[in-house]
Amino acid sequence: MWREGGVCFEAMEMTFEARLEQLVEASLDGRDPGRDELAWLLQAPDERTLEIVSAVSRVRFAAFGRRVKLNLLLNIKSGLCPEDCHYCSQARDSTAAIPSYAMVGEETFCAAAERARELGATRLCLVASGRGPTEREVDHVARGVEAVKAADGAIEICACLGLLSEGQAERLGEAGVYAYNHNLNTSESFYEAICDTHTFADRQETVGRAKAGGLSPCSGALFGMGESDADVLDAGYALRELDPDSVPINFLIPIDGTPLAGLNELTPQRCLRILAVFRLLFPRAEVRIAGGREVHLRSLQPLGLYLANSIFIGDYLTTKGQAAEADLAMIADAGFEVEGGGPAGERELEPIALKQGILD
Ligand code: SF4
Repeated sequence: MWREGGVCFEAMEMTFEARLEQLVEASLDGRDPGRDELAWLLQAPDERTLEIVSAVSRVRFAAFGRRVKLNLLLNIKSGLCPEDCHYCSQARDSTAAIPSYAMVGEETFCAAAERARELGATRLCLVASGRGPTEREVDHVARGVEAVKAADGAIEICACLGLLSEGQAERLGEAGVYAYNHNLNTSESFYEAICDTHTFADRQETVGRAKAGGLSPCSGALFGMGESDADVLDAGYALRELDPDSVPINFLIPIDGTPLAGLNELTPQRCLRILAVFRLLFPRAEVRIAGGREVHLRSLQPLGLYLANSIFIGDYLTTKGQAAEADLAMIADAGFEVEGGGPAGERELEPIALKQGILD
């Protein structure tokens, strides 16, 4: 028996598996796993993380089997944003060296959809910088989406254009947009620490507006910004209230030129425990490992697949992802399969071309 901070670890050994099992059973039954229990899981010692991944993977396998959904990002408008989200390289005050351009043309939408098909991605995420789209921008995106859908009716389109005004979700839906992404990012109480130009409530309202407008709500969070465990859980429960269909989990890439540059408080084990918490909170939603996967999970990325059922393939908004071949090999090596059948055709994937990504 050994003690640390007054806690008897032999006693904990006795209860660890049972507590974990209770959490998993609650999630599988669709019940709230319980905030205190999730806090306990978040604080578990690193050496227990593998047991957590193994236990919580039951929830993942129950809903999604061995399937991994692939998503491809297209940054349709970059930089020039008036907002001041401290984590974002495209923000007003960011001095990060990123491309700045107005909305790309229809042909770029279609090329990205083709790239998605080649890679086996079933969802194309169209992301624009800015507080929210103008009516003209919504019309522009709608025309691009109509062109994509005319060429490939099966591809799912998710738009991420910022705060929505009345009627914009409906217009996007009519054009063929399936989902709308708008992340809560963190807890309500921590929100002011990361952004001054809009509020947590603004973000909640847009997710509600997308849902009311008939779009599939996609909303997640970003961790590693200095938030506490309580913030992680607050964000999780706030998202649960919105009942999103997909929940992207980002880990901060602390980009030079942003206020959060140099911040690096995540470990691969903590990232896995955060993913476990979100899998338990969202047993039947698509939980996606989004930005920061390569940077923070590093060699433990395959373990993330036992919790999440979705990843981005290719590059992120302003940072490079690992080569698509590496992702596809990781999925196969870990015994998973790409949802929808995987990359199209027999053509060999060319790593350098893929690495260059969709911003070329
Ligand atoms: S996250 Fe979006 S709204 Fe915030 S600064 Fe970046 S581009 Fe602008």
